[in-house]
Amino acid sequence: MGRIITIANQKGGVGKTTTAVNLAACLASAGQITLLVDCDPQGNATSGLGVDLEPGDPTLYHVLIDQVAARDAVRATEVEHLHLLGSDVNLFGAEVELAGSAGRERLLAEVLSPLKDDYGYILLDCPPSLGLLTLNALTACDGVLVPLQTEYYALEGLTQLLHTIARVRRTLNPGLRMEGILLTMFDQRNNLSHQVAEDVRGHFKGMVYDTVVPRNVRLSEAPSHGLPVILYDSRCAGAQSYQALAQEVIQGPRGNSGAPQEGRAA
Ligand code: ADP
Ligand code: MG
Repeated sequence: MGRIITIANQKGGVGKTTTAVNLAACLASAGQITLLVDCDPQGNATSGLGVDLEPGDPTLYHVLIDQVAARDAVRATEVEHLHLLGSDVNLFGAEVELAGSAGRERLLAEVLSPLKDDYGYILLDCPPSLGLLTLNALTACDGVLVPLQTEYYALEGLTQLLHTIARVRRTLNPGLRMEGILLTMFDQRNNLSHQVAEDVRGHFKGMVYDTVVPRNVRLSEAPSHGLPVILYDSRCAGAQSYQALAQEVIQGPRGNSGAPQEGRAA
């Protein structure tokens, strides 16, 4: 039975998509059959894997709205063992079209459930909001991985995210647990980065991955080549950090209780 992990943070630019694409690729290269589901209408995970959707190609929108089977919308990628369920701007419409319908938060869970046995890991890349698409992802998953940019405002908005996670646990997905918190864009030479990392580890004892993703220009270049970083420059620091993260993820969720610690963020 596959493990479904949502990568969420309603802040934009914190490294969600970079983490989704590169963790997925590293899990796949470690031999895990992996599916990446692009739940963001911006489609950055889709383009970042070099997939150029043509009009008429089935996407997550068609799966959620037009009853296309998820399996029929999944495609292979350049990375062996890594499949993609892609998205484009049409997905913006899904949020509107589903607004009034009953059970709208459970739709993604329903459409993914036939695929769970086919994959070791299914990763869900979320948009930068706590809207219906993110709620669907939180409802569909076993655990949530939260990337935090290692900067002064890292914890801003985190209380709201933890409240949302706790609410989804109470109502839609009792099994939802915190997978782990990932520090991203760490700048080794910047004292503030060290201070923020220490603060976050202090706040969320045991829930933060040992692996820290450094600020690394190769990670930002790779998507423009349509490649995960392990295929673009396998030896760079960014590639090594995501390979280490994949090993930590394979070992299982961080944190002993697994319960999101609501209200502990600044
Ligand atoms: P999100 O999905 O949370 O909006 P992205 O993963 O798209 O964030 O990252 C935002 C920007 O920062 C992108 O241009 C990406 O290439 C870049 N980026 C992400 N992680 C790193 C990193 N560790 N080092 C350097 N650039 C990064
Ligand atoms: Mg993104």
